[in-house]
Amino acid sequence: MIKKSHTCYVCKRTFTNAIYWYDSLHDTKYDKRIIRPFCGPPCANRYREISDVNDYPSRKPLPSGPEWQVIQDIDYIDYDSD
Ligand SMILES: [Zn+2]
Repeated sequence: MIKKSHTCYVCKRTFTNAIYWYDSLHDTKYDKRIIRPFCGPPCANRYREISDVNDYPSRKPLPSGPEWQVIQDIDYIDYDSD
């Protein structure tokens, strides 16, 4: 399998081996699955400061269907970002 490279949502740097990302699975703000990768803890923390997504209630119950599978690792999957 080919390992993906990601573009950090905050600083726009390209990187591999993603450990941190935002996933709209848990968030009622978005009707579709969106992944926003972060290159490291500083950008992940920065995102929490600049984003309003934490102001929205959590999705309960979690949606089902192929689009909403639990994602453990984004290095080998195709995902939509914005
Ligand atoms: Zn970054």
